[in-house]
Amino acid sequence: MPLLPRRFERLKAVLDRRMADLTVLLEHVEKPHNLSAILRSCDAVGVLEAHAVWLEGRLPTFNSTAQGSQKWVPLHRHPSAADAVAALKRQGFRLYGTHLSADAVDYRQCDFTGPTAFVLGAEKWGLSPEATALVDQAIVIPMSGMVQSLNVSVATATLLFEALRQRQAAGLVPCQGEGLAPEHYQRRLFEWAYP
Ligand code: SAM
Repeated sequence: MPLLPRRFERLKAVLDRRMADLTVLLEHVEKPHNLSAILRSCDAVGVLEAHAVWLEGRLPTFNSTAQGSQKWVPLHRHPSAADAVAALKRQGFRLYGTHLSADAVDYRQCDFTGPTAFVLGAEKWGLSPEATALVDQAIVIPMSGMVQSLNVSVATATLLFEALRQRQAAGLVPCQGEGLAPEHYQRRLFEWAYP
């Protein structure tokens, strides 16, 4: 079926606001509804690509919570936390590891306007000691309830929207495709338009 001009304009408008310098790294976040909700938030905020560490042989599974967002936010698999962290650091990201400890910094005190990767941990165990040791900064979303942690997708959305808020306040949210390199933009637009 030919691509309608209105559809093309819609794809372009969304890609124009994508940010290659904001991402998430999910360490063994494997429940389909969590993975789905996280990618949906990534899409809503304008995250270009997400990253994940999985056990050998497992594949990501999404459900209807994703609303198709997995199609618009590619999820890159890494064999280990060390590989993922090294790859993101090579790309210039500062890694913020979510950690429910007393020495983690309140996320509202951090500057997420530079290249930012939020590292989120498994539903049951949280971030591994390996990942915790490798991140640049441990952060926490302060809570005052009876339950000790947030759902991982809620924590991800909270952090991503704070990053978006800071970038909007600083006038740093792209609106004409400047959030990714020109050749990357053209390639992604083609992939979206002609899947
Ligand atoms: N018992 C686990 C622990 O101690 O980390 C709880 C894991 S929690 C259900 C799953 C993930 O959600 C965490 O690894 C973290 O990435 C994120 N998370 C949950 N609550 C958070 C909070 N208050 N601040 C930052 N991240 C949080």
